[in-house]
Amino acid sequence: MIHYTCDRCKREIDATTEMRYTVQIQVQANSDSNRGDFDEDIDHLTELHQILEGIADDEFEFPLPETSHCSSYDLCPECHRQFLKNPLGRDSVLALGFSNN
Ligand SMILES: [Zn+2]
Repeated sequence: MIHYTCDRCKREIDATTEMRYTVQIQVQANSDSNRGDFDEDIDHLTELHQILEGIADDEFEFPLPETSHCSSYDLCPECHRQFLKNPLGRDSVLALGFSNN
């Protein structure tokens, strides 16, 4: 029997009797600021390419830019409900303030 643990309340989820909810969150960095400068960047890209080819023989792993991040969480039914109410985890004081408007 496979047991899952709720990533929010740390309770064990019995998959045979309870629904298990998986939340996948993908965070991606977006920037429009470089699009207009593409032509000017070509020389730099070519230069970078040559550098990369030069070091490829050393099996150098170029670090991936931290522009995207993907996470997956298991939630029990109760935490799933709470998550839907407040996906970004904003504190309840702010949420109440919004509902008064
Ligand atoms: Zn939970």
